[in-house]
Amino acid sequence: MNSPRATVVICLLCLLGGCREYNISQPIALVPSTSFSALEKTALSHAAQCWNYRFGTKFSVPDKASHLQQVVVDYEDAICPLARAGTTAYFPAAVYICPPKYFNAERRIIEDTFFAIVLHELGHVLNIRDHAERGRELSVMAPSSRGPSPLIPHRFSAADVQLLQAANPDFLIDSPCREVLIPSDFGGKDNPDYHGCSCLR
Ligand SMILES: [Zn+2]
Repeated sequence: MNSPRATVVICLLCLLGGCREYNISQPIALVPSTSFSALEKTALSHAAQCWNYRFGTKFSVPDKASHLQQVVVDYEDAICPLARAGTTAYFPAAVYICPPKYFNAERRIIEDTFFAIVLHELGHVLNIRDHAERGRELSVMAPSSRGPSPLIPHRFSAADVQLLQAANPDFLIDSPCREVLIPSDFGGKDNPDYHGCSCLR
């Protein structure tokens, strides 16, 4: 999640690095850190699938980079003073997540929180630079909440759809699902029903 300050920093990096946006019609490989647990990798895969289900994007989570467009997803200490996570806007992008060790007992990253953070950051990978306004409807692309864990909406909001389309005017949204439901509670790692987004057809 990007605070306004983080957004400024990222935009500066973007200017310095020369921005090249992702073509979101093409496959984008999300390369997980080798330090991620199996559950963190699963949460990343689930978050990627949510976007694929809802918008017809082509995220994949290979063990090694295999596509031309790739994004590294990793923990990074330097992001912590700015935000809970951040996504660099230049190509090739990286998603940096503040490591759990910086969160106290109440704020430590658990699986649900990790999922919510990554789900949001993947929107930035898809060229979304803005945030949804806080309204009655929860949005995946709402700015970071200050609570112990981000609220997870049950579905992508109209604002999320609008932001994706505005950031990618040539992209044709093509969901294979009639409706996509985002799980609000994974119930922890011992829950046998641990699952990602549902695609209602
Ligand atoms: Zn953000």
